[in-house]
Amino acid sequence: MQQAQNKPKHILIVGGGTAGWMAANLLVTQWPDMAVTLVESKDIGIIGVGEGSTPHLKLFFDAIGVADKDWMTACNATYKNGIWFDNWSQIKGHESYFHPFAAQTDDVFTVPLFFKNIRARMQGLDVNAHPDSYFLETYLSEQVLGPLPAESFPFGIAYGYHFDSGLLGQFLAKHAQQKGVKRIIGNVTDVLLGNSGNISAVKLDDHTQLNADFFIDCSGFNSLLLQQALKVEFSSYKDTLFNDAAVVLPSEITTPTPVATRSTALTNGWAWQIPLRNRFGNGYVYASDYTDASQAETELRQHLDLTESDVEARHLKMKVGRVTKHWQQNCLAVGLSQGFIEPLEATAIALTFNTIAQFIRCFEQGQFTHQYQDAFNQDINKRFDGIRDYVVCHYKANQRRDTNYWRDNANNPHISDKLKHILHLWQHSPDFAGEMHKQQLMGSYQAKSWACMLAGYGIFPAKNPQAQFDKHLYQHELNNVHDFIRRCGLNFTAHQALLQNL
Ligand SMILES: Cc1cc2nc3c(=O)[nH]c(=O)nc-3n(C[C@H](O)[C@H](O)[C@H](O)COP(=O)(O)OP(=O)(O)OC[C@H]3O[C@@H](n4cnc5c(N)ncnc54)[C@H](O)[C@@H]3O)c2cc1C
Repeated sequence: MQQAQNKPKHILIVGGGTAGWMAANLLVTQWPDMAVTLVESKDIGIIGVGEGSTPHLKLFFDAIGVADKDWMTACNATYKNGIWFDNWSQIKGHESYFHPFAAQTDDVFTVPLFFKNIRARMQGLDVNAHPDSYFLETYLSEQVLGPLPAESFPFGIAYGYHFDSGLLGQFLAKHAQQKGVKRIIGNVTDVLLGNSGNISAVKLDDHTQLNADFFIDCSGFNSLLLQQALKVEFSSYKDTLFNDAAVVLPSEITTPTPVATRSTALTNGWAWQIPLRNRFGNGYVYASDYTDASQAETELRQHLDLTESDVEARHLKMKVGRVTKHWQQNCLAVGLSQGFIEPLEATAIALTFNTIAQFIRCFEQGQFTHQYQDAFNQDINKRFDGIRDYVVCHYKANQRRDTNYWRDNANNPHISDKLKHILHLWQHSPDFAGEMHKQQLMGSYQAKSWACMLAGYGIFPAKNPQAQFDKHLYQHELNNVHDFIRRCGLNFTAHQALLQNL
């Protein structure tokens, strides 16, 4: 009864980018009796980048009841088994490694040997501790096989997607409107506050006033409601994540369509290559303290072999950090308006989904009051900071020393205490995975993900040629793992065929 009294009757979402339409779809699915309106500006438009996801995008589509075949073709989407990291390390044998998603169950047969060999390698033994030998997803990506196994295969694979962000927005807008969300086109010029400090309405440039009981700020980096009107503070990550700009260019897709993102370290940042059905999306994420837009564009064109091409580049600025409170008064910020971690791990959609899903849970559990507001804000801050630490770890652990940018990242003293501790454990604990579990240090990433990254960059002591050990035993165990992975691979279909069958 009390719940029904408190429940907002009308929610207004400001902003129609991916975040706004994801929020609209989840709210209308969860609370079908509530009126949901979304207002977006045609003049301002959407950011229009963000084409890679984690497995959270699948969770989102499952939550709103949409299958792969219903949206993937419409959004030129492809499957994603993980990310290749190229040239982040200059250590011989570690110039490239593959980073899978870490939720699958098959690797209980392979990861224990990975950890065993990491321990041995830490003691100086000359054994294989490169992550590429231990994950099925790496094999699938090398062979360009998709992540959907035959029905008889007993293990699940966690996978993400690549997609055209403009088309995804259009798909989600249509789906939400079919479910009853009202869409208004207009420019918000004013946010009206009541005596309690709550937002009472927003005003459009044609003087229309839109009232609601609750507001979702999805207005992108502008953060019109939460940061501008409610004055919630922004906490920058600039001291640990130097990149603040990007230049973006499409290029021709190759066949077969790759099933992974490629992240290549360049002079002052890194370049993504994201395979869609009709093109590659490419971008160079860089730090403007170290290079400028024109140099970055030239370097990206050289990297892509597009120096002669007249295809136009887009230049973007990024505000990296998070707000101190994501839910304040009667307003929740979602998407770029709540914060952004640079796109190395493509986590923005995951954070968007987690924010909305967690908000729905907390608001309902608290009978639509503010009972769990503080706990919610702390939880989302922890998720942001946890992902921040993981992304920072890539930079701290990089093994390039060729430019000031890479040297400054490696020497950066501002990393969090938690990250310092994880790096200490990696170097000094004989049971890295066990300690990560015991001390609850993993955050959004499992111990095997941290190990994959650190082993991938080759963070090991020098090999000891005098060390005595049974080389044949190690080789035999490794051969068994390779054989197991290869046989698992027989249950998977070519990525190209999967896409065609959609
Ligand atoms: C370089 C780069 C790469 C990225 N890569 C990835 C990636 O690989 N994976 C990933 O998950 N994410 C990525 N992201 C993040 C991703 O782009 C965003 O999280 C996602 O697009 C959601 O954006 P948004 O909806 O919050 O904001 P936007 O797309 O900016 O939408 C804001 C909306 O608010 C509206 N608006 C603004 N002001 C007003 C106003 N006054 N009145 C009315 N409406 C208004 C706009 O019209 C628009 O509809 C990347 C971001 C950048 C910058």
